[in-house]
Amino acid sequence: MTNKKRIAIIGSTGSIGTQALEVIEHHSDKLSVEVLTANTQADLLIEQALKYDPNAVVIADERYYSKVKEALSSTDVKVFAGQQALEEVVQMETIDMVLTALVGFAGLRPTIKAIEAGKPIALANKETLVVAGELITSLAAKNNVPILPVDSEHSAIFQCLAGEFYNPIEKIILTASGGPFRGWLREELEKVTVKQALNHPNWSMGKKVTIDSATLMNKGLEVIEAKWLFGLKGEKIKAVVHPQSIIHSMVEFEDGSIKAQLGLADMRLPIQYALTYPERLKTNFPKLDILAYPNLSFESPNTDIFRCLSLAYMAMEKGGNIPTIMNAANEIAVEAFLNEKIRFLEIPEIIEKAMSEYNFIASASVNDFFETDLLVREELASKYNIKH
Ligand code: MG
Repeated sequence: MTNKKRIAIIGSTGSIGTQALEVIEHHSDKLSVEVLTANTQADLLIEQALKYDPNAVVIADERYYSKVKEALSSTDVKVFAGQQALEEVVQMETIDMVLTALVGFAGLRPTIKAIEAGKPIALANKETLVVAGELITSLAAKNNVPILPVDSEHSAIFQCLAGEFYNPIEKIILTASGGPFRGWLREELEKVTVKQALNHPNWSMGKKVTIDSATLMNKGLEVIEAKWLFGLKGEKIKAVVHPQSIIHSMVEFEDGSIKAQLGLADMRLPIQYALTYPERLKTNFPKLDILAYPNLSFESPNTDIFRCLSLAYMAMEKGGNIPTIMNAANEIAVEAFLNEKIRFLEIPEIIEKAMSEYNFIASASVNDFFETDLLVREELASKYNIKH
């Protein structure tokens, strides 16, 4: 028997997944890898499986099954393929915690299955809460399953709330770097390239999150994520641009006191905190020297130009399937931009149009979420000639 916490990483080949593996390797006396899954990156999945020796791996894209199976044939790693396998593997008895590190709406089904199986969730897939926040949080409460935030902002808030259980939150201040186009005018944004948008000043992240950061949709998604994680009304959540990305977010209490969490822009810290909570383990990762940052500054986001943040507040207020429509339209619009099918400023236009055009379902069921997502995704993907 082992006393190590056995982690399933859903989406192990992405930015969060690979950093989570570094954290686990760093604390191999306390943490171990039980399951790894990837969508299409078979080579990296094979490499990870050979190195970390998980109980099982899943390659979601079935075309790569034989490749992965063959490469791992001399090991005892179980190999599965397909979406169905992804949903089943999270329920394995030997898993102690599921890290949802995959990107986009695809995270919803495996997260639901993991919660139903009573697995604590380290949540890095913000879209899950954006689309189905009410469903997920009530399901988690019903199954007595903790959801530990991995997103740096939400981890910061979670850390600020330690020991404050009985104290009501007056306000949450989510910090945003402002992305690569902070302070730019609309005329300047007309012609920005994919390369410019992918050049984030502070954080190194996957492409989807990086584009979301450039449009401020990332902060919009995080506002909705915060609403559900911390059970707050939308008006209590404020986004503030903080270009240095040193304060990862703040909580204001009713007495006017504000607590903040500071650190370098390094995702390994919030990942580790979620995996080892409530313990804080020693690391040799680079640490923040506050003297290197004598000027921390704050400004209001320009929501006239960066419309996505306002759209997210609108979607949150309306509720029902509107956040699902917004999220699906955003995922396709980002993909279309990355494929140079649309311009940067068309991203909010496409989202806003979708939010007003598709049928509003006020009290949406799980099926409504899946149907809405599929409908919006398929129509927009074919309109912009995007594979999805
Ligand atoms: Mg974040």
